[in-house]
Amino acid sequence: MKKQILAMLFGVAMVAVAANPKYVFLFIGDGMSAPQRSIVDEFLMKTENRHLLMNEFPVKAATKTSSANAFVTDSAASGTAIACGEKTNNGVIGMVPEVKGEGEEEKEVTYKPLESIAYVAKAAGKKVGIVTSVTINHATPASFYAHRPNRGQYYEIGLDLIASGFDYFGGGGASNYKDEKCPAYKGDLYELAKQEGYAVGYVKTQEDLAKFTPESGKVWLYGHHGSLPCELDSRNIVDLRLEDYVRKGIELLDNPNGFFMMCEGGAIDWGGHANDAGYVLGEVLALEKAVKLAYEFAQQHPDETLIVVTGDHETGGLTLGLANTGITGHIERLALQKRTYGQLEHRISHLMKDDPETTLDEIKPFITRNFGLKFTGEADDPMLLTAEEIAALEDVFQKQYHPAEGEKASGSIRSLVIALCGKRTGLTYTTGGHSALPVITSAYGVGAERFTGEFAAQVLNNTPENAKGDFENTYISQTLKELVK
Ligand SMILES: [Zn+2]
Repeated sequence: MKKQILAMLFGVAMVAVAANPKYVFLFIGDGMSAPQRSIVDEFLMKTENRHLLMNEFPVKAATKTSSANAFVTDSAASGTAIACGEKTNNGVIGMVPEVKGEGEEEKEVTYKPLESIAYVAKAAGKKVGIVTSVTINHATPASFYAHRPNRGQYYEIGLDLIASGFDYFGGGGASNYKDEKCPAYKGDLYELAKQEGYAVGYVKTQEDLAKFTPESGKVWLYGHHGSLPCELDSRNIVDLRLEDYVRKGIELLDNPNGFFMMCEGGAIDWGGHANDAGYVLGEVLALEKAVKLAYEFAQQHPDETLIVVTGDHETGGLTLGLANTGITGHIERLALQKRTYGQLEHRISHLMKDDPETTLDEIKPFITRNFGLKFTGEADDPMLLTAEEIAALEDVFQKQYHPAEGEKASGSIRSLVIALCGKRTGLTYTTGGHSALPVITSAYGVGAERFTGEFAAQVLNNTPENAKGDFENTYISQTLKELVK
């Protein structure tokens, strides 16, 4: 009892003297908020009778994501908030704008660089790794090592990557790595990295990965020139996955001073933009596998490891529940989806190359096989399309691929197929963009208790902006910086 009162009085100070984690994992699901975590959790419960591990972490809090200049953030502003602990404008990487002078004429905007948790960890003697399933100079990973006013400066962001001197980069390749038109161009980014002492590897297999060891020094590994393949489309492809890069990262980064590793599930966002729940499911599960590796590592290094899982924003305005399915969602039906939405049009273009007169009839087997929707079958089969739905598909297909003169396409076949799947799972979307829905931050291990809303409220003096029970995304980096020092 006495201990409890003391803890109440000195909650902040008492926890502050507790041991700091030697190993810190920060996982970010791009476009992953509560709905994305909920559908995957529900899917796993219905198909495998288990929960999503990241949802089972003992500490959880709602986390607000709005940027300095917008209610709805983008990944640059949110990535910067999570990485550096300050709010910035949408589109800005690792910097904050500072306006000098008044009026349009005199106004001058300069950008001040911020220090990310990755640099703080590095300065504290830890090794640092940055991993993503999308391109390594995309907004979220960039926020941890780059300082640029515009997220589109891919080449310059790549230069910042090399200059960071961080110990490990892994996952997708670098966009615009040979951007000769860029005024800052000084050569191929991979070549420049080699000149700066990086062991750079284009890796496709486990054997390729095995060539890189802790003796390799600073390592930069990429499996594609762009992003890693979507989880859903690559079941049969022999290719390295997000988890492989995290496993390699653990091997490369482990050392007596510990490490900080950021791992992004970057394409959850793309599934959200496409309003494709099957795509989202695949990408969340890919991130989950990487989280599981960290969790297993934490079991081997108890009292030394902290794992934090968060999202940078919600994408798609995903809602769980539709009038036509009533109170019963059928998220398990997502298992019938074998490919992402884009593969449908890919397939159609392929067929049209051979035969420009291709009709919907020739696409139907592909739709049934890969999206579960049936054109014929038992009347009580929920996947059976209605006559109206088939007519709508015919109409969209005709206008998209065989328009009459002057006729405009009305939507796309891929969007309609995905929407018809959604009608059967009980999932729908409200936007093709991001939403301002708070995300969930969950934590496990040493220092995890700091990520409760109550703890945050104490630290932040429970001001109205930091209402009890949740916190701003800036709080994540502010806390991690304290913990790695
Ligand atoms: Zn996005």
